[in-house]
Amino acid sequence: MSQDWNIKARSTACGACQKAFEDGQAYITRLAFEGIDYTRDDYCEPCWVAEAARKERYSSWKGIFKVPPPEPERRVRKETAESLLRELLEENNPARKNAIYILAVMLERQRVMVEREVRAGDAGERLVVYEHRKTGETFVLVDPKLKLTEIDPVQQEIMDLLGGRAAEALPIATLLAGSPSAAAVSTPDEAPTSP
Ligand SMILES: [Zn+2]
Repeated sequence: MSQDWNIKARSTACGACQKAFEDGQAYITRLAFEGIDYTRDDYCEPCWVAEAARKERYSSWKGIFKVPPPEPERRVRKETAESLLRELLEENNPARKNAIYILAVMLERQRVMVEREVRAGDAGERLVVYEHRKTGETFVLVDPKLKLTEIDPVQQEIMDLLGGRAAEALPIATLLAGSPSAAAVSTPDEAPTSP
């Protein structure tokens, strides 16, 4: 697998009528999966009515468009879990897949990202779709199905990568406990229990 994760930015305009989204406007995001790759389109509500039927294998959800924070504000946050996650995704190194996943779980617990969807990939892998709450970007990650005993080394790896910001990495075990993803982390063979 050459690339098993991806970041896609939110569009600033509807994919059908091309009208720019306004601050506070509802929109629908569709991820259409094609093999290991996927495409992302964002639509205004009126256009979605027609678009919904056009693809077969997709995930969709409704969001509220917010004007993204200006670049300088985002750049201030250096060497945080978020910047590290972005760096690792850019590197595209499969050896970092455990760290990438744990960072995403951390960011979900910190309410930076929200889990939008979990779906089975073509090879039966567990794909988790996260959305960045502020920028609206989607992050599609493969759940490495870590066992509890494998978390410590990953925690150490993240602490090393964060360097001086190790404090941020410390509560990983706490962050994972009670996380919706914790069941998959600790007992990958068990199906999630339905409410
Ligand atoms: Zn439209």
